[in-house]
Amino acid sequence: MLAHEIRARVARGELTPKEVVQAYWERVQRLDPSLGAFLTLNEAVWEEAARLDPALPLAGVVVAVKDNIATKGLRTTAGSRLLENFVPPYEATAVARLKARGALILGKTNLDEFGMGSSTEHSAFFPTKNPFDPGRVPGGSSGGSAAAVAADLAPVALGSDTGGSVRQPAAFSGVYGLKPTYGRVSRYGLIAYASSLDQIGPLARSVRDLALLMDAMAGPDPLDATSLDLPPRFQEALAEPLPPLRLGVVREGLGGNSPGVERALEGALKVFQGLGLEVAEVSWPSLPLALNAYYILAPAEASSNLARYDGTLYGYRAEGEELWPVVEATRARFGLEVKRRILVGTFVLQSGYYEAYYGRAQAFRRRLKAEAKALFQEVDLLLLPTTPHPAFPLGGRQDPLAMYREDLYTVGASLAGLPALSFPAGFEGNLPIGLQLLAPWGQDERLLRVALAFEEATDRAFLKTPLGEAL
Ligand code: GLN
Repeated sequence: MLAHEIRARVARGELTPKEVVQAYWERVQRLDPSLGAFLTLNEAVWEEAARLDPALPLAGVVVAVKDNIATKGLRTTAGSRLLENFVPPYEATAVARLKARGALILGKTNLDEFGMGSSTEHSAFFPTKNPFDPGRVPGGSSGGSAAAVAADLAPVALGSDTGGSVRQPAAFSGVYGLKPTYGRVSRYGLIAYASSLDQIGPLARSVRDLALLMDAMAGPDPLDATSLDLPPRFQEALAEPLPPLRLGVVREGLGGNSPGVERALEGALKVFQGLGLEVAEVSWPSLPLALNAYYILAPAEASSNLARYDGTLYGYRAEGEELWPVVEATRARFGLEVKRRILVGTFVLQSGYYEAYYGRAQAFRRRLKAEAKALFQEVDLLLLPTTPHPAFPLGGRQDPLAMYREDLYTVGASLAGLPALSFPAGFEGNLPIGLQLLAPWGQDERLLRVALAFEEATDRAFLKTPLGEAL
C-alpha cells in the first residue's frame, strides 16, 4: 500500500490504524531477520494506533525512522556503541510533526555509525542487506530506511542526507529519496554529523508519498536557526500542470558509468522529451572535485560535533575514576571509520594546515555553488546519475577511498545546499538503478512535479518489490 492510499482508506473507515500496524509489523517479523533493516521496533505503536484520531491527515501512515533522528522515549543509537542505550528525552521536530498529524513510528532503522558511510556496513551492530540481492549492500548511510521501504516493511521512511545518504541508498534499493534544500526540514533532533550539510529527507515508493511527508515536516522551526521560512506546497504543486521546463544533462555525469546507468539515462531523456521538456547538455566543471572538498569539510565538522561523546554528559561511559582515562576508553568505542573521520577532521583544522585544506575547501564550495547558480540561469533542472553503478557486493569496498568514491554524484548538491531527488529509472540485471534531479535553491516542489510526470509516464515500471508481493 502506498502511504496516500492508506490515508484515504483510513479516512473512509475501510481500514483502522491498528490493522495497518498489524500488517507491517507482521511483515517485519517475517522478513527483517534476513534483511537487518531495523535496529529497534516501537512497541508503543500499538497503543498509539489504538487511540489515534482517524480524521488526522496522516492517520495510520506507518513510518520507519533512521536511527540518528531522536525519538522521545524510544532508543536512538546513531548506529554507534556510544549511544547503544540512549533513550532521548526529546523528539526531533520532523518526527513530532509527523506524529502530530497521525503518523505512526514503526521503528528505528539501521545506518552507518553517525551517518558515516555509503553501505550501512559501518553500523556498529550489523550490516543491512539489499532486498534485491542479499549479497549486496542497500547503500548508506540510510540503508535501513531504504531497505525497509524497498521490501515494503514500511510504506515510507525518514533518512538523513549529508553527502548522499538518502539518495544513494534510494538508488541502490529502487525507491524514491529526496534531499531537500538545506534548511527546509528542521535539523532539531537530528544527531549531528556535519551540520552545514545535514538534512532530513523522506524515502518512499511514490512521488506522492514524498509530498505527503514533506508537507507535514517542512517549514520554519524556532528550534533550528538554519531552518527556512519557506512554506511547503508539495501536494499543491503535484496537482498543477507540468510547466514547460528546460532540463540540463550534466556532462560530467556522462560516460564512465555502468551500462545499466547509461541506458537508464538515455531512456529517461526520451521520456522527459516526450513530456515536452527541452533537453540540453550542460557542464558543471567543478563537480568532479566536489568529492575532495566534501571529504575535508564533512570530517572537519564531524570532528567538532563528535567531541561531545566523552562519557561525561550522556551515552556510554567507560569504567574508571580518573577523567582522562575514562574519556579515552569511552572514545575508543567509536568504530574505525568514525575514528578515521575524527583524525582527518582534526588534521585539516590544525593551525598550519587550516588554510591549505579547510580554507581551500570552503573557497571551492563557494565556487561550486556559484557555478550551479549560473547553470540555473540556462536550465530549470539538472539530471545526472545518482550513482555510477548499481549496488556493490557486501565487503566490496574495503579501501576507504573506494567507499568515498561512491559519492561522486551526490556530494555536489550537498555542498551547494540544493534540493536533489533520486528516482527509480531502470535495472541492471535484477539490481535497481536511480537517477538524480537537481533544482535551484528552494525549488524542491519542482523536483517532485517532474518526477511524478516520469512516474506516471513510465507507469511505475521501475518500482518493483523484492521478497514477495507488496502489502
Ligand atoms: N557517504 C557519505 C559520507 O560517508 C555521505 C553520508 C551521509 O550523507 N550521511 O560522508
